[in-house]
Amino acid sequence: MEHKRIVERDVPLKKDDLIVITGAGGFIAGNLALYFHKKGFTNIRAVDKKALYEWYLHVPGAQNICLDVSQEDNCRRVCEGAVEVYNLAADMGGMGFIERFRIECLRSVLINTHMVEAAYRAGARRYFFSSSACAYNTLLQADPKVRALKESDAYPAMAERGYGWEKLISEMVCQEYWHERGMKTFIARFHNVYGPHGTWDGGREKAPAALCRKVIEALDTDRKEITLWGDGHQTRSFMYIDDCVKGIDLIMHCDDLIATPINLGSSELVSINELLTKIEKIAVVRMGRMYDPDAPRGVAGRNSDNTFIKKVLGWEPNTRLDKGLAVTYKWIGEQYRKRKAGQRVGVG
Ligand code: NAD
Repeated sequence: MEHKRIVERDVPLKKDDLIVITGAGGFIAGNLALYFHKKGFTNIRAVDKKALYEWYLHVPGAQNICLDVSQEDNCRRVCEGAVEVYNLAADMGGMGFIERFRIECLRSVLINTHMVEAAYRAGARRYFFSSSACAYNTLLQADPKVRALKESDAYPAMAERGYGWEKLISEMVCQEYWHERGMKTFIARFHNVYGPHGTWDGGREKAPAALCRKVIEALDTDRKEITLWGDGHQTRSFMYIDDCVKGIDLIMHCDDLIATPINLGSSELVSINELLTKIEKIAVVRMGRMYDPDAPRGVAGRNSDNTFIKKVLGWEPNTRLDKGLAVTYKWIGEQYRKRKAGQRVGVG
């Protein structure tokens, strides 16, 4: 049986302390590794099961490792010597993926189970887990004019089948590593994240990237209409990637948030129709809109209540959607053209 670790006051993280980031071949963790590199951290171990040439970002100087962290032995290797561990690896995607592949989503429970144990055994000081707004009770999200979700809305639990339940259970595992064993764990519930260096094609992409790509494709092939999933009235909030990585850093280094799930999301609510209108403005085009009522659409509405994050951090994600979308549209356009020219681009 393991005993509770005596928690000493942390010395500040040194620039050469080892930071381990899983899922770093993917969108958020890749951007997080870049963020720490830019902040001057020199000892970053970036881990993903994807082959290196499929990673969206290669961070200069980082130790890049291709390993499957659903395997216990690999997690031990990955966490060796770690001072901080950021676990963002998960088998995930947009609604099209998480509604269709619930088993794959549920199996991500192995990742967090082994990673948190390996981090604890390695003596890591802090452990971060990327949860999701999909952990919230779906019954509270049945109306597009949704009341924003606050942290207590996860219970009584009725999470998104598959993906959401995996997040809820993994959150609980993290909380118990603090309560029973004294390892400082941190849990952020991300609300839809978008931006450059993320999945934009192939079935795992989320609405902002998917709509940018559809507009770019339509323009390139001289088509005048695109298809939206559902009736376009579903509402969501979308957080720009720069806010996400900054928020992860702030949350991980705030002791008031130990073992306390917190929303990390924008509170700028838009419908999918409005999202497309914004993208059309950037592309300077008007598309005909077809609707596919049978396509996966997720809950009717979802927004982030940021009362708690504003209170505890004095900050909330605040990049305006128009601004973040313009950067994202440009980046996806570049990827599209590169791929068309036969060049290799990162994949989800
Ligand atoms: P992503 O798919 O771009 O990145 C996840 C990465 O994890 C992928 O590169 C994948 O190859 C890797 N991975 C999966 N299984 C692995 C394994 N067994 N071993 C090693 N690597 C593995 O997704 P993302 O958008 O960057 O999401 C990162 C985290 O944030 C995930 O935990 C996700 O559930 C969570 N999240 C994301 C969003 C969002 O809007 N993007 C919203 C809520 C929560």
